[in-house]
Amino acid sequence: MENFIQDLFEILLCIFGTFMYYLFMNSSLFEVIQYCDERLNIEAIADEERACNGLQFQNSGEINKIAAAVDASLEVIEKAAAIEANFLIVHHGLFWGATIPIRDAVYEKYKYLIAHDIALYSCHLPLDAHPEIGNNAILAKILGLTNTAQEFEFHHAKIGMTGNRSIERSKFKSLLQSTFPHVVAMEFGPNVIDKVGIVSGSSGVIIAQAKDLAIHTVVIGECQQYYYNVAQENKVNAYACGHYATEIFGVQALGKEVSQKFSLPFEFIATDCPL
Ligand SMILES: [Zn+2]
Repeated sequence: MENFIQDLFEILLCIFGTFMYYLFMNSSLFEVIQYCDERLNIEAIADEERACNGLQFQNSGEINKIAAAVDASLEVIEKAAAIEANFLIVHHGLFWGATIPIRDAVYEKYKYLIAHDIALYSCHLPLDAHPEIGNNAILAKILGLTNTAQEFEFHHAKIGMTGNRSIERSKFKSLLQSTFPHVVAMEFGPNVIDKVGIVSGSSGVIIAQAKDLAIHTVVIGECQQYYYNVAQENKVNAYACGHYATEIFGVQALGKEVSQKFSLPFEFIATDCPL
């Protein structure tokens, strides 16, 4: 009889625990995307045509684990499924440029998202531009810039950051090398730096814009070969630190924030992208 009561107590405890888990650990997809949309102000920032910022792929409506990654690649989606995340935040979403047929890797992505009930939320330029949790704002903090301001216009929005820092160029380069795995340095500006411009991602174009802002040192992500000449001709120190490596910050900051707000677990999904 005593064992029966103990078993019954344990079963009731288990049912109560499961009930409490679902009561407190699940959040509705609607609530979470509403929070993300408002926090990132996605309606206000124009983007590349068909970037489709916001919820790109819905799930059945409940969220119990958040993951974030830079790209909506097949590798990332498979990893999200493996860690049982069902809300995946990415910087580069599923839709870019021309309409593409849903076959091969694209088909595999859709199949995985549906089979594992994963919702995919993408946020491109609004997550570069955000003054607190944006890629450029976080980078400005890491690099110790002061008096920061939003500069460098893309699609009518100022998505980059500028800020002051008085530092020898060699020390600044060392700081970048300790922050990023690969740094391509094109040093044609002053030996002592006073002001820095930052635009993450594919942003070589800011080497040309820097001159008009009286900035002689820029931190960018990916750089086209043409801009080497522009850096030399405009006397700019340009540091290309990688498209991927400069865009890991915003998605993580958003993921952590949503995780805390809704009391849900969070994981960042890294890849070995060297570019
Ligand atoms: Zn990018």
